[in-house]
Amino acid sequence: MAKDRSQISPEDQWDVASLYPDMAAWGKDFSDTVPSTSPRWPELLSYKGRLKESPEILKAALELSFNLSRKLSKLYSYAHLRHDEEITLDAHKTAYNKILAAYHDFSQESSWFDPELLEIEDDILSKFLKSPTLAPYRFHIEKSIRVKQHMLSHEGEELLARAGKALQAPSKAFSAINDADFKFPQVDDQQGGKHELTLGSYGLYIRDTDRVLRKNTFKQLHAKYGRYENTLCELLNGQVQAHVFNAKSRHYHSCLEAALFPKNVDKAVYHSLIKAVNDNMHVLHQYVELREKVLDIGKLHLYDMYVPLMPSADIRLPYNEAEDIVIESVAPLGEEYQNLLRKGFKEQRWVDRYENKNKRSGAYSSGCYDSNPYILMNYKKLLKDVFTLAHEAGHSMHSLLSHTHQPYHYGDYPIFLAEVASTFNETLLMNLMLDRAKTKEERIYLINEKIEDLRGTLFRQTMFAEFELWIHEMSEQDIPLTPKLLSDYYLELNRRYFGERIVIDDEAAAEWSRIPHFYYNFYVYQYATGISAALALADRVCKGGKQERDDYLSFLKAGCSRYPIDILKSAGVDMRSSQPVTAAIGKFGSLVTQLGKELGIK
Ligand SMILES: [Zn+2]
Repeated sequence: MAKDRSQISPEDQWDVASLYPDMAAWGKDFSDTVPSTSPRWPELLSYKGRLKESPEILKAALELSFNLSRKLSKLYSYAHLRHDEEITLDAHKTAYNKILAAYHDFSQESSWFDPELLEIEDDILSKFLKSPTLAPYRFHIEKSIRVKQHMLSHEGEELLARAGKALQAPSKAFSAINDADFKFPQVDDQQGGKHELTLGSYGLYIRDTDRVLRKNTFKQLHAKYGRYENTLCELLNGQVQAHVFNAKSRHYHSCLEAALFPKNVDKAVYHSLIKAVNDNMHVLHQYVELREKVLDIGKLHLYDMYVPLMPSADIRLPYNEAEDIVIESVAPLGEEYQNLLRKGFKEQRWVDRYENKNKRSGAYSSGCYDSNPYILMNYKKLLKDVFTLAHEAGHSMHSLLSHTHQPYHYGDYPIFLAEVASTFNETLLMNLMLDRAKTKEERIYLINEKIEDLRGTLFRQTMFAEFELWIHEMSEQDIPLTPKLLSDYYLELNRRYFGERIVIDDEAAAEWSRIPHFYYNFYVYQYATGISAALALADRVCKGGKQERDDYLSFLKAGCSRYPIDILKSAGVDMRSSQPVTAAIGKFGSLVTQLGKELGIK
């Protein structure tokens, strides 16, 4: 039973008092920042219709908007952190809802801003962009107006905006059926024991050492989706049609281009990823073969792909030792980085360490420009918890360095870069732990964890990315998406990724119908590119010298001051080429070989 928060020593809690001494101080700042009358920020609205008057006016409007957003994000951070300490506490819930409502109003009252910026005539705007007054905001403005060539007339834009709500129906309906309406049957284990199957318990049962439970879990979950294949196909089709409608209306050549162009991500990044993985698929097949030999249960089925090859090595680390080893592991990043992290952990108390009653589960790194980069954890001394700490510390140091070296409007890093710094630090920790591992069991456990991480993030997400691209290309050619077409292609993909040795049960054909990410508009490839970039950079830093380290640190300090692909390029990795992905697969291959050796299997 988890303890009450009042029983947790303050030393083990994050120091949110450095943000506001208490809720009363927060309330005072809230009243000062968020007027209760509507419109809440008339001074912001006073710039409406005036942005093109002069560079000075535009600058003043931008600064006002950024200042407000900065103050709101500070208020948000505190309310959000306090809320997650005990999610049932009314006072915190009220504060949290108040700041969410204020945010909503802020976005409403500033929603005119970007469209007005986009409407400024080209000749005026290019003069503005050359003016020294706007120099600190030049890249921000360029980013905002990047989509200008794909904007429609005033009337056209209004029409698209009005269609927007209707076009959300497929993803909302999918979420409703998937998260709320669907109830799954109970599944039997080998002894005939009954288990409640939910989307949450699926992840546990599919890793269980009881093969009967794994099999029933896999088959019954997918059979449920299979029975609704017509509805689920129409929902996915609706979503894809919405992307086609948007891409065509805005004169993009394809849905892929429409999704990547605003972020200035070259389509080559997407295609190189898929090509590199396909060119090296034999490495994944070798892993399947190794699993088959180790598990020794005859031919493997897809539901045998998740069970750990070695029970969790029984290493328990008290929290303080976890901090110490994470600090030690970042030595390749230099003393300055290491000292900042040590100070964050030991003096500034970034981390809320242990579980308490009604605390939010899981782990995250969160904060704002004017706060510490806090970390929420539910530390249980297991090895995976130590890796979670390393992961979140990677995010937090990225935030800290970007906030310290960039002005507010360039302080946050974009999604494309988000998982690079965290995965990088996990890799450093893995290197250290493998060096230190005392027993064979420990080494096998660590290597297998890394292999599974790469399989789930690099191979599986690329398979999703390939499927996502294919359904969009089909629709662009007016080929109707039917359950049979989708299932056949999905089986073919599974066959290609897992190879000929594995049994692909019929139920697997329905998996496409349960993946929420297919509703996100070309999102998943970023998991695969992120882990590839992180591995390439970690390798470069560990093998390199001062220059390579400084290149990497410059990436951590860059926030969103340039486009993500350009930031990575300066750090030493070019995601337009297939090289980083090929190298990551090479790493996967050498881990598989290493695991085979440790297990004494050729
Ligand atoms: Zn993360």
